[in-house]
Amino acid sequence: MNKIKNSDGNFGQFGGSYVPDFLQTPLKELESYFLKYINDFDFQKELEYYFKEYIGRKSPLYYAKNLTSSIGGAKIYLKREDLNHTGAHKINNAIGQALLAKRMGKKRIIAETGAGQHGVATATACALFGLECIIYMGALDTKRQELNVFRMELLGAKVIAVTKGTATLKDAVDEALNDYAKNYANTFYLLGSAVGPHPYPIMVREFQSIIGKEAREQILAIEGRPPNYLVAAVGGGSNAIGLFHPFFDDNNVKIVGVEPGGKSDENGDHAASICKGKVGIIHGFKCYTLQDDKGEPLAVHSIAAGLAYPGVGPEHSYYKEIARAEYVSVSDDDALKAFSILSKTEGIIPALESAHAVAYGMTLAKTLSKDQIIIINLSGRGDKDVQQVKEMSERTK
Ligand SMILES: *Cc1c(COP(=O)(O)O)cnc(C)c1O
Repeated sequence: MNKIKNSDGNFGQFGGSYVPDFLQTPLKELESYFLKYINDFDFQKELEYYFKEYIGRKSPLYYAKNLTSSIGGAKIYLKREDLNHTGAHKINNAIGQALLAKRMGKKRIIAETGAGQHGVATATACALFGLECIIYMGALDTKRQELNVFRMELLGAKVIAVTKGTATLKDAVDEALNDYAKNYANTFYLLGSAVGPHPYPIMVREFQSIIGKEAREQILAIEGRPPNYLVAAVGGGSNAIGLFHPFFDDNNVKIVGVEPGGKSDENGDHAASICKGKVGIIHGFKCYTLQDDKGEPLAVHSIAAGLAYPGVGPEHSYYKEIARAEYVSVSDDDALKAFSILSKTEGIIPALESAHAVAYGMTLAKTLSKDQIIIINLSGRGDKDVQQVKEMSERTK
């Protein structure tokens, strides 16, 4: 049996469960089922089965030879989460939580989504397991992401457009929480990143840790040693913690999380919660967060919608505090350049989120010798971003 790290929900001063009393009951129930099943042999077998046969795991660890030689420094490997079914890492967590919901006897799944990617992953898992699926989405976001709304509906989900407040993600979260508080007897709240109150951050980490477990085995098989660096983009932090966590005890492996630096350092122009935020509470947990003097979340921006969140997972906040990892930021422009460079050198169009990690990985590789190794998490593919990039390039012509 594996001992689950941080099973009390605390990461140093970070994490915890700062929610009203009426939500403590369902969260306690969720915690006890999660801790039971994460070490259950049959549950793990079933999870492994869907990871392999449905998602298509394991994902390759690809040596990016062209990119490496065009830079002339460290060897760059890409962990190809973009090759998963539905095109990103999010499906690992959606399948894991949906399987847990089934074990708990909950037949109704709710989730909130901003850009729509987590909504699509959730709707996919619900279609697979025959679960009712309700997705809360800000009304403004449903207009910006029409195609993802249609995708979710094709998959059998019901998308509820939230018109309250700013009609964006924040308001969708509030509505989803109201629903959960009323309906938790038959409803499972499927959260999309390594954030939120306990037990979500450890639960999401455990389901995403497959990324780092595979990468560790793969690099040992190919190179006979661990890498010198791990690099991953950090929004809420799920793809990054999935890669990082299994390397935590490899003291010689340096870890770098890449935050969205956006357009400028001004408030509202970026979403670099660790680099530019302070310690506070957001959505039921303690972390580095971008908030005003009253504790209200600030507006955030990133060219990559999936990175635009004014908080960050408690485990990353803790890695930062104990200096186990370093956190940097990459601007919209540099992410866009990396998007284009990886497409041309390797024939791989990355998600704009992942392009942040690629951009930093390239900069880092330049400073290192040829015998060093970097693993970059390619969290998703860029098909979803092609239209946006086309429109931007036409505007600047
Ligand atoms: C959602 C998303 C992210 C950001 O979320 P994390 O929880 O920080 O991983 C990164 N890359 C892709 C492709 C995404 O869809």
